[in-house]
Amino acid sequence: MYDYLVVGSGLYGAVFAHEAKKAGKSVLVIDKRANIAGNVYTEEVEGINVHKYGAHIFHTNNKEVWDYVNQFAEFNRFTNSPVANYKGELYSLPFNMYTFNKMWGVVTPEEAAAKIEEQRKEITGEPKNLEEQAISLVGRDIYEKLIKGYTEKQWGRDCKELPSFIIKRLPVRLTFDNNYFNALYQGIPVGGYTQMVANMLEGIEVRLNTDYLANKAELDALAEKVVYTGAIDAYFEFKLGTLEYRSVKFENELLDKPNFQGNAAVNYTDRETPWTRIIEHKWFEFGKDKNGNDLPKTVISREYSSEWKPGDEPYYPVNDEKNGALYAEYKKLAETEKNVIFGGRLGEYKYYDMDTVIAAALELCRKELY
Ligand code: UDP
Repeated sequence: MYDYLVVGSGLYGAVFAHEAKKAGKSVLVIDKRANIAGNVYTEEVEGINVHKYGAHIFHTNNKEVWDYVNQFAEFNRFTNSPVANYKGELYSLPFNMYTFNKMWGVVTPEEAAAKIEEQRKEITGEPKNLEEQAISLVGRDIYEKLIKGYTEKQWGRDCKELPSFIIKRLPVRLTFDNNYFNALYQGIPVGGYTQMVANMLEGIEVRLNTDYLANKAELDALAEKVVYTGAIDAYFEFKLGTLEYRSVKFENELLDKPNFQGNAAVNYTDRETPWTRIIEHKWFEFGKDKNGNDLPKTVISREYSSEWKPGDEPYYPVNDEKNGALYAEYKKLAETEKNVIFGGRLGEYKYYDMDTVIAAALELCRKELY
C-alpha cells in the first residue's frame, strides 16, 4: 500500500511526489501518456528541445519557486519577446514604446500616453469584458490589430464574451522593453523540461500508459490517498455537465534551413491566418545545441486553437461565468471525496502558469506533509 497515488506527472504531480518522497512517504505516480511531464514535455529533435505541447517559458517573481526549480535544472537567460505579425506588418510585444512607435509614429512616452488616453475615452466606467478592458488599456487601434483577431482565434469566442482578466496578463509599458513578462526571474531549463521533471521524479516509481479513470477501483486500492491532477469533470464522469476547455493542435515541421522567423514566437494577430502563432523552438536556446554549436536545421510548430471535445487534450480552462459556476458545483463534490486531493490546471479548472502551479503544489505539501 502506497501512502500516495499521484495521477498525472505534470508539474503539480511531480512537485508533490518529490516532496512526499522527501518526507518519507511512499508514492506511486501514474500517467496515461507514454511520457512524463504533462504539457511541459519536451522532446529532442535534431538537437533541438521541442516543446511538444506548446511553448513554455518559465517566469516568476516568487523567489521560493525560483530556488525550488533551480534544484532540478539550470536555467538559461531566455527572455520572451514575441513579435506580432498583422497581415505582414510586424509589431513588438508586449505593448511598449516600440509597438506605439510603429503603430502611431509617436516618439516620446508622453506622445504615446496621450494617444492611448485619447483612445481609451470611449470606455467609461469599469470594463465589463475583455474588449472593453483591452481598449481601456491600450486603445482601439492596438485592440483591432494586435488583440481582437488573436484572442478570438485563441478562445473561439467574441472578445465581448470573455473575462477581462485574461488581457491583464499582458504588460503595457511606456519604455522600450520587449520583455513579455514582468518577472524578476525567467529562463528555459537547459536540457529541456522533460529532464527537469525526470529529476524531480528521481527514485519514484512511475507507471506510464496507465489510465486512472479507466482502472479507478483497482488503482485506488493501491494507496491511502490520491492526488488527482486530471480534469475534475472527467473524474465525476461529467455528471453535472461538461466544463469547456480550449485545445491546441500543433503542426510540426523540420526545415532544412537554419532560420525560419528569427524569433522563438511570432503571433499572427489577424483573423484570416488560421494559426494563432508559430514557435521556432531552437531560439529558446539561442539556436545552439548542447555543446554550443549552431544548429543547421530548425523545427517550427504552427498552433491551431480549437474547442475541446472528448478525445482531445484539454489545455486552457474557459474561465467565464457559466463555467465558473459549474466548476463551483464540481468543487463541492470534490470536497466530499475525502481521500482525494484535486490539483493543477485541470484539477482546479484554473489558468495557472508554471510558477503558480508549483506554488500551489508546495502549499499543498505544507498542509499535507509537514
Ligand atoms: N493576446 C493578444 N495578442 C497577442 C498575445 C496575447 O491579444 O499577440 C491576449 C490573448 O487574449 C491571450 C492573452 O493575451 O489569450 C494571454 O496571452 P498569453 O500569451 O499570456 O497566453 P498563453 O501564453 O498562456 O497562451
